[in-house]
Amino acid sequence: MSQSIPQRAAVGGAGPSGFYACGMLLDAGFEVDLFDALPTPYGLVRAGVAPDHPKIKTVTRVFDKTAAREGFRFLGGVELGRDVTREDLVARYDVVLYAMGTSRDRRLGIPGEDLVGSHAATDFVAWYNGHPHHATRDYDLNCDRAVVVGNGNVAIDVARMLALDPGELAVTDTADHAIGGLQASGVREALILGRRGPAQAAFTNPELRELGELARADVIVDPEDVDLDAASAAWLESDAAGATARRNVEILRGYAAREPRGLSHRVALRFLRSPLEILGDGRVKAIRVAVNRIEDDGEGNLRAVPTGVQETIPCGLVIRSIGYLGEPIAGIPFDERRALIRNAGGRVLGDDGEPCPGEYAAGWIKRGPSGVIGTNKKDAADTVARVVEDRDAGLLPAPTVALGDDWPHEQVTDWTGWQRIDRHEVGLGEPQGRPRVKVVDLDTLHEVGRGDD
Ligand code: NAP
Repeated sequence: MSQSIPQRAAVGGAGPSGFYACGMLLDAGFEVDLFDALPTPYGLVRAGVAPDHPKIKTVTRVFDKTAAREGFRFLGGVELGRDVTREDLVARYDVVLYAMGTSRDRRLGIPGEDLVGSHAATDFVAWYNGHPHHATRDYDLNCDRAVVVGNGNVAIDVARMLALDPGELAVTDTADHAIGGLQASGVREALILGRRGPAQAAFTNPELRELGELARADVIVDPEDVDLDAASAAWLESDAAGATARRNVEILRGYAAREPRGLSHRVALRFLRSPLEILGDGRVKAIRVAVNRIEDDGEGNLRAVPTGVQETIPCGLVIRSIGYLGEPIAGIPFDERRALIRNAGGRVLGDDGEPCPGEYAAGWIKRGPSGVIGTNKKDAADTVARVVEDRDAGLLPAPTVALGDDWPHEQVTDWTGWQRIDRHEVGLGEPQGRPRVKVVDLDTLHEVGRGDD
């Protein structure tokens, strides 16, 4: 039913799904407080999207329009579970919508995974993108070959970043510490390792195609790898396969047919290899892999099955890029098996399986780490439709605590503060011909946000 006083929504996480949800909640007549643990907004658009993909980042213009709307507030530097609790939010808002994404790395679960030189892609990506929690990490890139495990777009991003020419890197908003580290890197080959075949790779076409356009790196694919097994070939011909998979195989066949240009660097793709052990005496020296074949499990799933053959690939760096997992936060109901907030269509479900009134989830923490940025628009719309249904059915619990002036606390970086940070970073970037120079120290971000610079 329509309300005379505007109802308030708290949205946790200022990434794409959180921002899309904010816009839709404003459309539905709510006032919105958008919380983020960092004083900077945009989530993975700032800390995940590869720095040499500036076009993808222009989606922030849409979010900026939302931020300029009446009824919107940004509360940056407020961490759910540390600075405010789930109970704080539920008591103060008619709607609490969680959109914190999935920040943990999925683990291989093999010996040697924690050797020096074995890293999660989630950490490496956050490092080169200047995420303040990762800025002081040190990556020793003084080796010839890096193995990137996984066949998704993050694996491609990581391999490409390792192969970029200093000139390509210098015009990006890659964090300064990472520009230094990558320019001094000894890595000559980034080897992307897939446990299944080319037809099953999770790459999207533009990202795969981009590997073939690097200034200083040849792309290497073994022709044997693109000679598909019967099950994969039949699947690729069937309606079950999408255009993306067919095109991926064509692109990879094109790479296999290419004569290397003799460039200084290589991005190699090797398929049907599952990591068994990361080898080394204290630090990574090699990775032992099982050679697989593809088998149809009878239900249309094409699985990797070990052939019994094993190989050892020398390398000094392993970057595990096999997906993200959600992190349990602040007592919000969590589905351990799926590593996501327990929910049905975006309604958070309690231990009894019943909806927790007024609590919702959107984005990766709701459905898992899949799709592109735009996928989160539809996802947020689905959740906000549930919010509106519940409001119209009178199911939203009324807040029990008023929002005081001291809520949530005085250290918050608001949207004006973010705009100060933004201007500061863009100003630093201008003389260097870069979109921005990121501030990576949290205290400095807060200072700049307050106008102390
Ligand atoms: P992803 O697309 O889900 O790929 C994960 C990869 O890891 C798959 O190839 C998977 O193989 C493999 N894998 C999982 N467990 C493994 C194991 N134990 N051993 C070996 N391999 C294993 O994940 P992502 O690359 O992290 O990307 C997340 C999402 O962000 C995706 O939707 C991606 O498209 C998107 N993204 C988009 C862009 C862009 O648009 N430019 C850039 C980056 C990310 P199986 O298939 O065999 O399970």
